[in-house]
Amino acid sequence: MRLLLLGGTAEARALAKALHPQVDIVSSLAGRVPDPALPDGPVRIGGFGGVDGLRRWLRDERVDAVVDATHPFAATMTAHAAEVCAELRMPHLVLARPPWEPGAAIVVASDIEAAKAVARHAYSRVFLTTGRSGARAFARSDAWFLIRAVTAPDKVSLPRHHHILLSRGPYRYDDEIAIMRRHRVDALVTKNSGGDMTRAKLDAAAALGIPVVMVARPPLPDGVTAVGTVQEAAEWVARLG
Ligand code: NAP
Repeated sequence: MRLLLLGGTAEARALAKALHPQVDIVSSLAGRVPDPALPDGPVRIGGFGGVDGLRRWLRDERVDAVVDATHPFAATMTAHAAEVCAELRMPHLVLARPPWEPGAAIVVASDIEAAKAVARHAYSRVFLTTGRSGARAFARSDAWFLIRAVTAPDKVSLPRHHHILLSRGPYRYDDEIAIMRRHRVDALVTKNSGGDMTRAKLDAAAALGIPVVMVARPPLPDGVTAVGTVQEAAEWVARLG
Protein backbone atom coordinates (compact mmCIF):
# COMPACT_ATOMS: atom_id res chain seq x y z
CA MET A 1 0.00 0.00 0.00
CA ARG A 2 1.49 3.30 -1.10
CA LEU A 3 0.03 6.52 0.27
CA LEU A 4 0.32 10.13 -0.87
CA LEU A 5 0.10 12.47 2.11
CA LEU A 6 -0.63 16.03 1.05
CA GLY A 7 0.96 18.05 3.80
CA GLY A 8 2.34 21.34 5.02
CA THR A 9 0.57 21.24 8.38
CA ALA A 10 1.46 20.03 11.87
CA GLU A 11 -1.28 17.39 11.53
CA ALA A 12 0.31 16.04 8.35
CA ARG A 13 3.67 15.78 10.11
CA ALA A 14 2.06 13.98 13.05
CA LEU A 15 0.36 11.54 10.70
CA ALA A 16 3.62 10.88 8.83
CA LYS A 17 5.27 10.18 12.18
CA ALA A 18 2.50 7.74 13.10
CA LEU A 19 2.65 5.88 9.76
CA HIS A 20 6.33 5.86 8.80
CA PRO A 21 7.98 3.41 8.20
CA GLN A 22 5.21 0.80 8.57
CA VAL A 23 3.28 2.33 5.67
CA ASP A 24 4.89 3.32 2.38
CA ILE A 25 4.14 7.06 2.37
CA VAL A 26 5.34 10.02 0.40
CA SER A 27 4.57 13.46 1.79
CA SER A 28 4.01 16.38 -0.54
CA LEU A 29 4.64 20.06 0.26
CA ALA A 30 3.65 23.04 -1.88
CA GLY A 31 7.06 24.65 -1.44
CA ARG A 32 5.70 28.04 -0.37
CA VAL A 33 8.03 28.61 2.57
CA PRO A 34 11.81 28.44 2.69
CA ASP A 35 13.22 25.87 5.05
CA PRO A 36 9.91 24.08 5.79
CA ALA A 37 9.46 21.75 8.75
CA LEU A 38 9.94 18.34 7.15
CA PRO A 39 7.88 15.25 8.00
CA ASP A 40 9.31 11.81 8.69
CA GLY A 41 9.80 9.69 5.58
CA PRO A 42 10.14 10.56 1.90
CA VAL A 43 9.10 14.05 0.79
CA ARG A 44 8.46 15.67 -2.58
CA ILE A 45 8.13 19.45 -2.94
CA GLY A 46 6.25 21.61 -5.47
CA GLY A 47 2.96 21.63 -7.38
CA PHE A 48 1.91 18.65 -9.48
CA GLY A 49 0.79 20.74 -12.45
CA GLY A 50 -2.97 20.88 -11.84
CA VAL A 51 -5.43 18.03 -12.12
CA ASP A 52 -3.66 16.43 -15.09
CA GLY A 53 -0.29 16.54 -13.38
CA LEU A 54 -1.67 15.03 -10.20
CA ARG A 55 -3.44 12.24 -12.11
CA ARG A 56 -0.19 11.43 -13.94
CA TRP A 57 1.86 11.56 -10.76
CA LEU A 58 -0.46 9.19 -8.88
CA ARG A 59 -0.28 6.70 -11.74
CA ASP A 60 3.49 6.97 -12.27
CA GLU A 61 4.16 6.58 -8.55
CA ARG A 62 1.66 3.70 -8.22
CA VAL A 63 -0.15 5.39 -5.37
CA ASP A 64 -3.05 3.46 -3.82
CA ALA A 65 -4.60 6.09 -1.54
CA VAL A 66 -4.44 9.80 -0.73
CA VAL A 67 -4.74 11.62 2.59
CA ASP A 68 -5.18 15.35 2.15
CA ALA A 69 -3.89 17.05 5.29
CA THR A 70 -3.23 20.43 3.67
CA HIS A 71 -4.10 23.72 5.33
CA PRO A 72 -7.89 24.23 5.62
CA PHE A 73 -7.59 27.20 3.24
CA ALA A 74 -5.65 25.30 0.58
CA ALA A 75 -8.91 24.86 -1.36
CA THR A 76 -7.39 24.41 -4.81
CA MET A 77 -5.17 21.49 -3.83
CA THR A 78 -8.07 19.94 -1.92
CA ALA A 79 -10.41 20.28 -4.92
CA HIS A 80 -7.81 18.77 -7.28
CA ALA A 81 -7.18 15.77 -5.03
CA ALA A 82 -10.91 15.14 -4.55
CA GLU A 83 -11.56 15.31 -8.28
CA VAL A 84 -8.72 13.03 -9.34
CA CYS A 85 -9.32 10.46 -6.60
CA ALA A 86 -13.04 10.28 -7.45
CA GLU A 87 -12.19 9.78 -11.10
CA LEU A 88 -9.58 7.06 -10.36
CA ARG A 89 -11.82 5.51 -7.63
CA MET A 90 -8.87 5.85 -5.30
CA PRO A 91 -9.44 5.86 -1.51
CA HIS A 92 -9.23 9.47 -0.38
CA LEU A 93 -9.51 11.14 3.01
CA VAL A 94 -9.38 14.76 4.12
CA LEU A 95 -7.78 15.40 7.50
CA ALA A 96 -8.94 18.85 8.59
CA ARG A 97 -8.37 20.06 12.13
CA PRO A 98 -11.57 21.34 13.76
CA PRO A 99 -12.27 25.02 13.18
CA TRP A 100 -12.23 27.53 16.05
CA GLU A 101 -15.48 28.58 17.66
CA PRO A 102 -15.93 32.11 16.28
CA GLY A 103 -17.51 33.37 19.52
CA ALA A 104 -18.20 37.09 19.14
CA ALA A 105 -16.08 37.41 15.99
CA ILE A 106 -17.45 39.04 12.85
CA VAL A 107 -17.49 36.06 10.48
CA VAL A 108 -16.93 36.80 6.79
CA ALA A 109 -16.66 34.60 3.73
CA SER A 110 -13.43 35.88 2.16
CA ASP A 111 -10.47 38.23 2.49
CA ILE A 112 -12.37 40.79 0.40
CA GLU A 113 -15.30 40.64 2.81
CA ALA A 114 -12.85 41.00 5.71
CA ALA A 115 -11.50 44.20 4.12
CA LYS A 116 -15.07 45.50 3.78
CA ALA A 117 -15.75 44.72 7.45
CA VAL A 118 -12.62 46.63 8.49
CA ALA A 119 -13.80 49.66 6.48
CA ARG A 120 -17.40 49.40 7.75
CA HIS A 121 -16.29 49.36 11.38
CA ALA A 122 -13.64 52.04 10.77
CA TYR A 123 -10.90 50.00 12.44
CA SER A 124 -7.68 51.97 12.17
CA ARG A 125 -4.87 49.77 13.55
CA VAL A 126 -5.39 46.23 12.32
CA PHE A 127 -3.40 43.12 13.16
CA LEU A 128 -3.62 41.23 9.85
CA THR A 129 -2.75 37.55 10.17
CA THR A 130 -4.28 36.13 7.00
CA GLY A 131 -0.88 35.44 5.48
CA ARG A 132 1.06 36.55 2.47
CA SER A 133 -1.77 36.25 -0.05
CA GLY A 134 -4.47 37.50 2.34
CA ALA A 135 -2.94 40.99 2.59
CA ARG A 136 -3.73 41.80 -1.03
CA ALA A 137 -7.45 42.33 -0.32
CA PHE A 138 -6.56 45.28 1.94
CA ALA A 139 -4.45 47.11 -0.65
CA ARG A 140 -6.85 50.07 -0.93
CA SER A 141 -7.53 50.48 2.77
CA ASP A 142 -6.53 53.68 4.55
CA ALA A 143 -6.10 51.94 7.90
CA TRP A 144 -2.69 51.00 9.33
CA PHE A 145 -1.86 47.27 9.29
CA LEU A 146 0.52 45.11 11.22
CA ILE A 147 0.95 42.34 8.63
CA ARG A 148 2.26 39.07 10.03
CA ALA A 149 3.36 36.46 7.51
CA VAL A 150 5.89 33.65 7.14
CA THR A 151 7.36 35.07 3.93
CA ALA A 152 7.30 38.69 2.78
CA PRO A 153 4.21 39.69 0.81
CA ASP A 154 4.52 41.37 -2.57
CA LYS A 155 5.13 45.08 -1.79
CA VAL A 156 3.09 46.45 -4.69
CA SER A 157 -0.18 44.95 -3.46
CA LEU A 158 -0.02 46.10 0.17
CA PRO A 159 -2.01 48.82 1.91
CA ARG A 160 -0.28 52.21 2.08
CA HIS A 161 0.26 52.20 5.84
CA HIS A 162 1.72 49.02 7.19
CA HIS A 163 4.46 47.29 9.10
CA ILE A 164 5.53 43.76 8.19
CA LEU A 165 6.31 41.21 10.86
CA LEU A 166 7.94 38.09 9.45
CA SER A 167 7.51 35.15 11.77
CA ARG A 168 6.26 31.60 12.01
CA GLY A 169 4.11 30.01 14.72
CA PRO A 170 3.54 28.57 17.21
CA TYR A 171 2.68 31.74 19.10
CA ARG A 172 2.34 32.23 22.86
CA TYR A 173 -0.43 34.10 24.65
CA ASP A 174 1.90 36.53 26.47
CA ASP A 175 3.69 37.42 23.25
CA GLU A 176 0.41 38.01 21.43
CA ILE A 177 -0.78 40.31 24.22
CA ALA A 178 2.53 42.21 24.03
CA ILE A 179 2.34 42.61 20.23
CA MET A 180 -1.26 43.87 20.33
CA ARG A 181 -0.46 46.35 23.12
CA ARG A 182 2.81 47.56 21.60
CA HIS A 183 1.17 48.32 18.27
CA ARG A 184 -2.06 49.67 19.84
CA VAL A 185 -4.07 47.29 17.67
CA ASP A 186 -7.84 47.93 17.52
CA ALA A 187 -8.87 44.86 15.47
CA LEU A 188 -7.57 41.39 14.61
CA VAL A 189 -8.18 39.81 11.21
CA THR A 190 -7.65 36.07 10.99
CA LYS A 191 -8.61 33.02 8.99
CA ASN A 192 -10.47 30.32 10.85
CA SER A 193 -7.42 28.07 10.62
CA GLY A 194 -8.19 26.10 13.78
CA GLY A 195 -5.60 24.29 15.89
CA ASP A 196 -3.46 25.27 18.86
CA MET A 197 -0.38 26.68 17.10
CA THR A 198 -1.96 30.04 16.29
CA ARG A 199 -5.02 30.27 18.54
CA ALA A 200 -3.31 32.41 21.25
CA LYS A 201 -4.12 35.55 19.24
CA LEU A 202 -7.84 34.90 19.76
CA ASP A 203 -7.42 34.54 23.51
CA ALA A 204 -5.25 37.65 23.62
CA ALA A 205 -7.77 39.67 21.58
CA ALA A 206 -10.58 38.51 23.88
CA ALA A 207 -8.60 39.47 26.98
CA LEU A 208 -7.86 42.94 25.58
CA GLY A 209 -11.39 43.49 24.26
CA ILE A 210 -10.14 43.70 20.67
CA PRO A 211 -12.75 42.80 18.02
CA VAL A 212 -11.98 39.92 15.66
CA VAL A 213 -12.85 39.60 11.97
CA MET A 214 -12.67 35.91 11.06
CA VAL A 215 -12.59 34.53 7.53
CA ALA A 216 -14.66 31.32 7.40
CA ARG A 217 -13.16 28.22 5.82
CA PRO A 218 -13.90 27.35 2.24
CA PRO A 219 -16.29 24.39 2.11
CA LEU A 220 -14.90 20.93 1.37
CA PRO A 221 -15.75 19.45 -2.02
CA ASP A 222 -19.04 17.50 -2.11
CA GLY A 223 -18.92 13.87 -1.11
CA VAL A 224 -15.44 13.71 0.45
CA THR A 225 -14.80 11.72 3.62
CA ALA A 226 -13.27 13.94 6.29
CA VAL A 227 -11.91 13.43 9.81
CA GLY A 228 -10.71 15.95 12.37
CA THR A 229 -7.88 14.15 14.14
CA VAL A 230 -4.59 12.48 13.29
CA GLN A 231 -5.70 9.35 15.17
CA GLU A 232 -8.84 8.98 13.04
CA ALA A 233 -6.76 9.41 9.90
CA ALA A 234 -4.26 6.77 11.06
CA GLU A 235 -7.17 4.38 11.74
CA TRP A 236 -8.58 5.04 8.27
CA VAL A 237 -5.19 4.17 6.76
CA ALA A 238 -4.93 1.02 8.90
CA ARG A 239 -8.33 -0.15 7.62
CA LEU A 240 -7.07 0.08 4.02
CA GLY A 241 -4.74 -2.80 4.85
P1 NAP B 1 -3.85 26.10 -2.79
O1 NAP B 1 -4.28 27.45 -3.19
O2 NAP B 1 -4.89 25.08 -2.50
O3 NAP B 1 -2.86 25.48 -3.86
C1 NAP B 1 -2.36 26.15 -5.00
C2 NAP B 1 -1.47 25.20 -5.72
O4 NAP B 1 -0.32 24.92 -4.93
C3 NAP B 1 -2.10 23.83 -5.98
O5 NAP B 1 -2.95 23.85 -7.11
C4 NAP B 1 -0.87 22.98 -6.13
O6 NAP B 1 -0.25 23.21 -7.39
C5 NAP B 1 0.07 23.56 -5.10
N1 NAP B 1 -0.03 22.88 -3.81
C6 NAP B 1 -0.71 23.25 -2.69
N2 NAP B 1 -0.51 22.40 -1.71
C7 NAP B 1 0.32 21.44 -2.18
C8 NAP B 1 0.94 20.28 -1.61
N3 NAP B 1 0.73 19.93 -0.34
N4 NAP B 1 1.75 19.54 -2.42
C9 NAP B 1 1.98 19.90 -3.70
N5 NAP B 1 1.44 20.98 -4.29
C10 NAP B 1 0.63 21.75 -3.54
O7 NAP B 1 -2.89 26.15 -1.49
P2 NAP B 1 -1.76 27.17 -1.03
O8 NAP B 1 -1.35 28.03 -2.17
O9 NAP B 1 -0.74 26.37 -0.32
O10 NAP B 1 -2.48 28.04 0.04
C11 NAP B 1 -3.81 28.52 -0.07
C12 NAP B 1 -4.21 29.26 1.19
O11 NAP B 1 -3.91 28.50 2.37
C13 NAP B 1 -3.47 30.56 1.35
O12 NAP B 1 -4.43 31.49 1.80
C14 NAP B 1 -2.43 30.29 2.41
O13 NAP B 1 -2.15 31.43 3.18
C15 NAP B 1 -3.10 29.24 3.25
N6 NAP B 1 -2.07 28.38 3.85
C16 NAP B 1 -1.67 28.65 5.10
C17 NAP B 1 -0.71 27.85 5.68
C18 NAP B 1 -0.31 28.11 7.07
O14 NAP B 1 0.48 27.35 7.62
N7 NAP B 1 -0.79 29.16 7.70
C19 NAP B 1 -0.13 26.80 5.00
C20 NAP B 1 -0.56 26.57 3.71
C21 NAP B 1 -1.53 27.37 3.17
P3 NAP B 1 -0.55 22.32 -8.69
O15 NAP B 1 -1.92 22.73 -9.16
O16 NAP B 1 0.57 22.66 -9.62
O17 NAP B 1 -0.53 20.88 -8.24
